[in-house]
Amino acid sequence: MTMLENRNCGECSLCCFTHTVEPVPTEHHEWCVYCKSTGGCGIYLERPINCRVFRCEWLEGMGSDDERPDKTNIVVERQYDLYFDEKIVMMAATPTALESDYARTMTLEYLRHGLVVVHMHVDGRCEVQHE
Ligand code: SF4
Ligand code: SF4
Repeated sequence: MTMLENRNCGECSLCCFTHTVEPVPTEHHEWCVYCKSTGGCGIYLERPINCRVFRCEWLEGMGSDDERPDKTNIVVERQYDLYFDEKIVMMAATPTALESDYARTMTLEYLRHGLVVVHMHVDGRCEVQHE
């Protein structure tokens, strides 16, 4: 896996749509109430700690510059839990995003590195992926 460093979110704010951020009263797949219509966070300086620390895989260097989440409509996140220890969650922002070549390529790459990969669809379906 090629990892690039020193990225910033730029124009992207897709995780403010795909993720629920405590304590902001926002559901999955609804824009956060604090998102500005012009882009960016309306409470940037006071945003919750969960927003400050969240880093998607693209921000950590995965994929090309053209594969920023707002361009692929997928936020890829590395999570840690009791069952899988470490897993990759791919959160779609549109109904067909997880059918793309990008989604297939990334899924296979993570699987080949021995990681559990879960696809989260906009309708709430959750699918564990297999090669
Ligand atoms: S999805 Fe990733 S690149 Fe986009 S705003 Fe969130 S952390 Fe930044
Ligand atoms: S508070 Fe700001 S950074 Fe956090 S989800 Fe809402 S818009 Fe995004």
